[in-house]
Amino acid sequence: MDFAFDARTEELRGRLLAFMDEHVYPAEPVAEEQRARLASPWDTPAVVGELKAEARRRGLWNLFLPDAEYGAGLTNLQYAPLAEITGRSPHLAPTATNCAAPDTGNMEVLSQFGTEEQKKRWLEPLLAGEIRSAFAMTEPEVASSDATNIETRMIRDGGDYVVNGRKWYISGAMNPDCAVFIVMGKTDPDGDDIRRQQSMVLVPRDAPGVEVRRAMRVYGYEDHSHGGHAEVVFHDVRVPAANLVGEEGGGFAIAQARLGPGRIHHCMRLIGMAERAIELMCRRAVERTAFGKPLAAQGVVQNWIADARVTVEQLRLLVLKTAWLMDTVGNKGAHTEIQAIKIATPRAVVDILDSAVQLYGAGGVSQDFPLAELWASARTLRLADGPDEVHQRSLARREIKRHG
Ligand SMILES: Cc1cc2nc3c(=O)[nH]c(=O)nc-3n(C[C@H](O)[C@H](O)[C@H](O)COP(=O)(O)OP(=O)(O)OC[C@H]3O[C@@H](n4cnc5c(N)ncnc54)[C@H](O)[C@@H]3O)c2cc1C
Repeated sequence: MDFAFDARTEELRGRLLAFMDEHVYPAEPVAEEQRARLASPWDTPAVVGELKAEARRRGLWNLFLPDAEYGAGLTNLQYAPLAEITGRSPHLAPTATNCAAPDTGNMEVLSQFGTEEQKKRWLEPLLAGEIRSAFAMTEPEVASSDATNIETRMIRDGGDYVVNGRKWYISGAMNPDCAVFIVMGKTDPDGDDIRRQQSMVLVPRDAPGVEVRRAMRVYGYEDHSHGGHAEVVFHDVRVPAANLVGEEGGGFAIAQARLGPGRIHHCMRLIGMAERAIELMCRRAVERTAFGKPLAAQGVVQNWIADARVTVEQLRLLVLKTAWLMDTVGNKGAHTEIQAIKIATPRAVVDILDSAVQLYGAGGVSQDFPLAELWASARTLRLADGPDEVHQRSLARREIKRHG
């Protein structure tokens, strides 16, 4: 039985489920087919634009943004079940509803910390789904799970900042529609407070000196529908000081603020992904026969399906509790729970997808079913937005402090 949400959420859920059935799932093979015929695999298939127009027409747009001035004004608890539904088709539904990472986090940053001019130039077209964006923090040369290591330099020179550095795994940056990067670097590399050395600046993709060098792979996938994960080099890139986001030295704090909602959104979508995997498992199990009986009659298959169902129910409750805490005591107050779901969800969903791959046999690792790619994408979430171990360490420290 489904969890009962408030009337507005239930109404939006009904609309979103209908949109998924009528438009998103049927568009999945169409998008694949269109992409194969594009001049560049990084261009966006036409069907994605059609889905965006339809989602907007149906009022299923910018659902993630709690700020009612710019977005749907939903609480995290209201958004959670909607994000879960979009996670069932992670390559299309989040983009179709303008709720895809990394744009969501970037829009949150701009709506909270952007100047009026920055909002006009970048936030408005992002909210309208006319451009895409990327968030550039991680660097190949340093352990980037510790943001104080970042080496990119953003040195003030008159009325400008001059940016030099090399980043990688910058999601979305291969997409030609990606018009702007929020870049994290050091404006005060020798400052006493290591958490005040960093700042964020907006760098237009077409600024002289920006080199989008290559697409990094994820277990061999290029992740075209997410705009890839690029290596990007900034060679003496000059941007006006007015492109600073928030205050100088505030980059670390903004990164922390940005990642809370981003983490829970990923977990919500992962639960949708797990639901899709369970559905695929059940379908395959009844359709296929081995050694004289359907796979569904094998105890081991039943165990996989039962364990997956139990896990998803547990995860969903933990995610909903976290969303409710974020709404009631704030992201800071929900810190432990955000870390708990960030640790628990990708791991568990990777396991569920792994069982589904096993059940599909060779088909499971093939390109003919979505499972292998979903597995790869869920697995990366044990790294992206901070590796498991970093969250475990800080959660454990807080727990020890509480009792010690
Ligand atoms: C698909 C994908 C998309 C991404 N998208 C983006 C993006 O859009 N923008 C962006 O800036 N970055 C992005 N990233 C990068 C991601 O955020 C980093 O990979 C992550 O923060 C870890 O940094 P690192 O790779 O430098 O690993 P490192 O910091 O080198 O860490 C390596 C390993 O060391 C261990 N470790 C580190 N610290 C600790 C600790 N305190 N205790 C115990 N063990 C520890 C962990 O096992 C960790 O996995 C993406 C990554 C992937 C895979």
